[in-house]
Amino acid sequence: MPEISSTCPYCGVGCGVTVSVNGDANIEKNAKKPVVLASKTHPANFGRLCSKGSALGETLLGAKQANRITHPVVDGNVATWDEATDSIAKKISDSIKKHGKESVAFYLSGQLLTEDYYVANKLMKGFIGTANVDTNSRLCMSSAVAGYKRAFGSDTVPCSYEDLEYADLIVLIGSNAAWTHPVLYQRMVAAKESNPNMRVILIDPRKTASDDLADLHLPLAPSSDSFLFQGLLKYLAENNEIDQDYIDQYTDGFDQALAQASELSFDEIASKTALDKDDLELFYGLFAKTKKAISFYSQGINQSATGTDKCNAIINCHLATGKIGYQGAGPFSITGQPNAMGGREVGGLANQLAAHMDFATQDVDRVQRFWNSPDIASEPGLKAVDLFDEIDAGNIKVLWVMATNPAVSLPDANKVRRALEKCETVIVSDITHTDTSKYAHITLPALGWSEKDGTVTNSERRISRQREFCKAPGTAKPDWWALAQVGQKMGFNDAFDYQSPRDVFVEHAQLSAFENNGTRDFDISGLSQLSESDYNELTPIQWPVNEQNPNGTERMFTDGKFFTKNRRAQFIYNNAVLSDALNLDSAEHSLVLNTGRLRDQWHTMTRTGFAPTLTSHDDVPFVQINPNDAEQAGLEHNEFAELYNGFGKFIARVDITSSVTPKQLFSPIHWTDRFASDAVVSRVVSPEVDPVSGQPESKASKVAIRKFDCTKWARLVTPSPIKKQGWEYWAQSKTKQGYVTLVGFNEEIDWRNWVTLNINSSLNFTQYVNPFKNTEALIGTQEDKIGVLVFTSESVQALPSFIWLDEAYTSTQIKELVKGEIGDVDELICSCFRTGRKTIEAAIEAGSTSQESLATSLGCGSKCGSCRPELNRLLSQA
Ligand code: SF4
Repeated sequence: MPEISSTCPYCGVGCGVTVSVNGDANIEKNAKKPVVLASKTHPANFGRLCSKGSALGETLLGAKQANRITHPVVDGNVATWDEATDSIAKKISDSIKKHGKESVAFYLSGQLLTEDYYVANKLMKGFIGTANVDTNSRLCMSSAVAGYKRAFGSDTVPCSYEDLEYADLIVLIGSNAAWTHPVLYQRMVAAKESNPNMRVILIDPRKTASDDLADLHLPLAPSSDSFLFQGLLKYLAENNEIDQDYIDQYTDGFDQALAQASELSFDEIASKTALDKDDLELFYGLFAKTKKAISFYSQGINQSATGTDKCNAIINCHLATGKIGYQGAGPFSITGQPNAMGGREVGGLANQLAAHMDFATQDVDRVQRFWNSPDIASEPGLKAVDLFDEIDAGNIKVLWVMATNPAVSLPDANKVRRALEKCETVIVSDITHTDTSKYAHITLPALGWSEKDGTVTNSERRISRQREFCKAPGTAKPDWWALAQVGQKMGFNDAFDYQSPRDVFVEHAQLSAFENNGTRDFDISGLSQLSESDYNELTPIQWPVNEQNPNGTERMFTDGKFFTKNRRAQFIYNNAVLSDALNLDSAEHSLVLNTGRLRDQWHTMTRTGFAPTLTSHDDVPFVQINPNDAEQAGLEHNEFAELYNGFGKFIARVDITSSVTPKQLFSPIHWTDRFASDAVVSRVVSPEVDPVSGQPESKASKVAIRKFDCTKWARLVTPSPIKKQGWEYWAQSKTKQGYVTLVGFNEEIDWRNWVTLNINSSLNFTQYVNPFKNTEALIGTQEDKIGVLVFTSESVQALPSFIWLDEAYTSTQIKELVKGEIGDVDELICSCFRTGRKTIEAAIEAGSTSQESLATSLGCGSKCGSCRPELNRLLSQA
């Protein structure tokens, strides 16, 4: 069986996978799906994968699955590529003639390959002549970029993943790595097991799954991170824990930063962060005394109206102590998306040019000469939120969206949808239909993971290949190819005459080397002469890759030289303004909503939403609320609530937990209108942005909450999706054999009649009253097999769970089934072995006292490891 090395398409860890293709590369025809396993040799993961990576084989989407887009469609009619690209080239050219080049914009994605990103950026900035090209990475790490650039003069991630293993102190700041970067988290777990001196501190308003590894959790007040790190800087100075030699030799601005940090007393820091003074002192002391200290930060820092200041507050402490540029130390920002770093390299953000150049006159001139471009953008373009505001204002007439779903992911999603509705021409390139593609005048079928070919860069600057191993459905094509076609049709033949992704990559590498001479961090000149076969065989490598570092570079700033004009790092004066994201003046909206990612889902579920292994962990959107707030709002666990403010509303299952502190809520970002009603949390997320980076504040929107109820609820399992119209509430998830749908309604329904009319008219029905307390069940069978299961109740909490229904649907023991004697009626913990909470609790009661014994008796936790924090929670509760 041929084996192909590729890279996981989800998070910024960038794990390597090995794919065994057995038979036909066309997955529609091939009964044996390719087998995707962890690469044992890829330096990001060395044989590990998380639950999402482990389920990659399940997410290979053929033409018939998941609403694949298989052919170009122009104004509602299936078209050829020639017709579609003709039409796009004409729309763009006409708009430029009529309204100017600023009337055109691209909105890209960290899901794109570097080659796609490079061509999009070149077409827009170099040939259309505007920088109105931004990316969903704006929502993920643009504050980290801005923070690095202010401090180092370049967007340089200093560390490597192996530094996590060398460190004696890991400070997780605004990062639930256990769920968002699980393989890195597993590496930390293993490192801590082998280094008893290692300490882990979790800084997060929530007690997340990552608390399992933490020696100390600091549940700071939302958005108070700048205060916390200013306090640390002051503490370091007052306790003679700074490295004065490092400061003197390699940095500027320490005195001003310290003077500003010293304005607040220790008591004021404790009060602003709402942290216990002893805990604060413990953290400060540990950071001061530990030479090998990593600050590992992610969206909790970046997604903030003061995100860039927070990044610099962290970096300041590393510069002040010289904890950077050697093994096990440094400020280490981790990207959310698989190729956010590749996007940064090619200038995917509206305020970058290409190859880590900006809009300084000499950079613009250099890139223009390299591209031989007729009309290059000379100043930054519109960042994501501003860009959609300009669409809403009618100033952008043509928008091309690639591989992203702004109707779901951008804040104030209702406004984004209104803007898309107004836009004269919306072009969407994607693999599946999405909430955004509903607004498209032209849809283009893109290649998905397994079908496309190119490179991605992970959070440690490591470039890896994504390789093709499945045949694309219909006439789907690579994005770089579609962009090049449009470029050529606009008259730029030579500049877009690429024959393969290798041609694009080599040009990108050559630009990184062009007039560089060590002045720019991003230099992959060592890859600029790759032949087709070199490119095909490229193994993972960390940039810079150049004459001095032909095998790549593990760590940056080892010599204390930075990329500022005087080669010295800069301390940044912090404003440390406690973010108030709300621009509604109402005491009614008194709760602060934090948003984030789940363990088993990715982005807007366009892949992971179709893998039963992944949908079973959480089948409906939820909101976590503290018991005090729940009581005040009159809410019970597992019933439903509506979150609302002046921007919109969002409906979610209530999860009462003390892991969120009073007055704070948490909801996941993943659900869309395709999976549930009123499920887009961004509808209540404020569009406030960081003034430096333009990154939206996604962690602190003020909302109010109230109960959402219907007179009746039902959970059904059906062989195909049911119609979504006509319900007060619905949420649908894919199971192994069909679909589970939760519906809420206010009128009596004759379910026999409903099933006969809407699902199957040949079923035999049996009705059961009270199979579980306060429920009724209707089982429709055909030849002793279950065709439809319907459980109804006046209480949504009484209904059996998704995971139980999924198991029950394929059962032949119908009597046992309705008595609840089969399986777990409750929540799923281990996705790999489909083990539920009840089963695990029973095993613990029967004598399992450790993860190892649970793994031996049930298997749970022994594969991808993503559920281990939850297993530990159940063990410690017992
Ligand atoms: Fe993929 Fe999981 Fe690795 Fe992220 S940690 S790259 S989602 S396998």
